Amino acid sequence: MPRIFHLWLTLAAFLLVAGCGGDSANDAPAPKEKDWKPLVNAQRAFADLTEFANLGGMSHLPARREALASGRRLIRSKLREAGFEARDIITDSWTQKIPRLNGGGLRTTTMKNILATLPGQRPEMIAIACHYDTKMMSETFVGANDGCSGVALTLELARQLRAKSKDERAFTYVFAFLDGEEAVVDWRAKYEEVPDNCYGSRRLANQSDRFPIQTVILLDMVGDADLELVYEKSSHPDLNDLFTQTAKDVFGIDIFGGMKEIQDDHIPFKEAGMSRVIDLIDFDYGPGNSYWHKPADTVEHCSAKSLERVGTLVMAALPRVESWLKKELARK
Ligand SMILES: [Zn+2]
Repeated sequence: MPRIFHLWLTLAAFLLVAGCGGDSANDAPAPKEKDWKPLVNAQRAFADLTEFANLGGMSHLPARREALASGRRLIRSKLREAGFEARDIITDSWTQKIPRLNGGGLRTTTMKNILATLPGQRPEMIAIACHYDTKMMSETFVGANDGCSGVALTLELARQLRAKSKDERAFTYVFAFLDGEEAVVDWRAKYEEVPDNCYGSRRLANQSDRFPIQTVILLDMVGDADLELVYEKSSHPDLNDLFTQTAKDVFGIDIFGGMKEIQDDHIPFKEAGMSRVIDLIDFDYGPGNSYWHKPADTVEHCSAKSLERVGTLVMAALPRVESWLKKELARK
């Protein structure tokens, strides 16, 4: 995906600090990464990333629609292999008007979210979400990072959480594989009042009766071989702090880089009144983000190590997220 909003004041703040920081900051030894134990199977997740990328791009372009359907079949079959019951894997279909790629009004397409639920002690839900559509492009675009990495890691987290007992999950989980994150024509445009982006998350965010989601952990562009997660400004500050602290505790280093405000699938939940969202995203893919939405978004530019790091971060953070959410809900 997504779209960056402002590059923010981080750079200015950094320069200010650097400018008056004196020598003591320079003399302090850089934090050293700890030995840490992976909490996900990264080779399995990377094999999935590769398999989805090999579909050659999953979009609503007529020529790519079959790949989109293949992607859905793969997601469902991998969830079944992970032990999810068929009845807990919901395909939510709807008819969506989208702009024509080459101008000339709107057309309709069928969009489908795949939602796999996993019961916990409480009915309120924590969503682990990604988008499985990839950008519609006239040139070859497989979306190994932008699309497939989030799908692969969401699947792996589903496996890890499915392997635990229900007692170990304080909340019900929903693994949300969202359609239509990518803009068809123009991310900033609206067509008949509907923004040309995040179609699937907007759909899910407005189904709170069926899916009582209280927190969203969004995974997007998490496969970049040169990983640096963004401290994303429109995410909930408590969740940003919680994940940053977890990263320091687990890895011994801060794996979050500069602050950016990014428009992504977490925004429709905020707009629907649910602000407990975090977007885990590395929005600096290739030199100057030059691989983003380009044919260079390939498996070669992704790594199992990056999936392992983000997956381990999420697994380590989840007990803290659950405790935090319990307190949040008790305050209501
Ligand atoms: Zn994208």
